Amino acid sequence: MIRPQPKIAALEPYVLADFSAPAGMHPISLAQNESIRGPCPAALEAASRTLAGSALYPDPDWTELRAAIATVQGVEPASILCGAGSMELIGALAHAYLGPDDRALTTAHGYLYFRTAARLAGAGIDLAPERELTVDIDALLAAVGPATRVVFVADPGNPSGTALAPGALVRLRDGLPDDVLLVIDQAYGEFRHASEHAFALVDRGDTVVLRTFSKAYGLAGMRVGWGLFPPAMATQVRKVLNPNNVTGPAQAAAAAAMQDQPYMRETVALTAARRDRFSAHARALGLEVPESRTNFVLLRFRSAETARAADAALRARGVVMRGMGGYGLPECLRATIGSDGDMARAAEALAQTLQSENAS
Ligand SMILES: *Cc1c(COP(=O)(O)O)cnc(C)c1O
Repeated sequence: MIRPQPKIAALEPYVLADFSAPAGMHPISLAQNESIRGPCPAALEAASRTLAGSALYPDPDWTELRAAIATVQGVEPASILCGAGSMELIGALAHAYLGPDDRALTTAHGYLYFRTAARLAGAGIDLAPERELTVDIDALLAAVGPATRVVFVADPGNPSGTALAPGALVRLRDGLPDDVLLVIDQAYGEFRHASEHAFALVDRGDTVVLRTFSKAYGLAGMRVGWGLFPPAMATQVRKVLNPNNVTGPAQAAAAAAMQDQPYMRETVALTAARRDRFSAHARALGLEVPESRTNFVLLRFRSAETARAADAALRARGVVMRGMGGYGLPECLRATIGSDGDMARAAEALAQTLQSENAS
């Protein structure tokens, strides 16, 4: 019998969205936090131009992509690493900085892949409570133990959508021991006004900030993420990455997308307007909706049962949201902001669902 490593055998498969819907009905997906629209035209052109060169391996140094990121973000190209999505960078960080005697720390309802990555590295995981579905800096600091090696925080958070107050990340970093790595995942950083302040923390040598092209840039299918790393850490993490991790078309598309900031800003503004309308609608129906700084909203129902019934009723109407049981929030559903048509259908389905619930 061929036996896997015990840490792999003990791991549940990573769960993505469940798209089951009634037979014959084409469901609309509000389950994966994808962009409301595709990438900018220049990104599509750049990717197609690169396809003809597919006989060759891609640039292992992501030269043009790093140059585009560096110029637009005002950072050094040498401090940037690119990944096949920021998930690859999260995994590589865990691989490089966590082992069986170590523990990672994150928040109670935080992004699940942090936990998966820590477990894949054989490390233990601790969860600090949140406060009103927002990262609680004091609770995180109180949960740091002698074996804590890495702290993972998403700001803004997924699935809560909430953002930390300015200055909170500096307070977190100041309170952590120097030998604890802080990983700040800003997959939704573009949706938040002036979240670039976190970049300055990287200069301390003990902090990494991750970004992605999957959300605000509409390139989830291309798999491109990037991060700012202290130089000494970049050297180590690069050893763990697949040396040809980002395809040529993906590098070209991401570079062009980074250079078209007005298109990204417009995506963010359109998304935010729709998100705030949908949140207001959901609140008017009696749901609790934390203030989102992302391209999705968390809908909190009266109970786990109500949320489950709503999920089933929404599916019956062809609207697929994401159940949050895996995040310890079984009374919640997470809804990605989609097209105007999709949001109207979702809002109507939600209203009907809750009306029939209240009548019964
Ligand atoms: C979507 C998401 C990611 C993963 O993004 P990829 O770059 O597509 O791998 C990382 N972190 C958080 C919090 C996310 O929501």
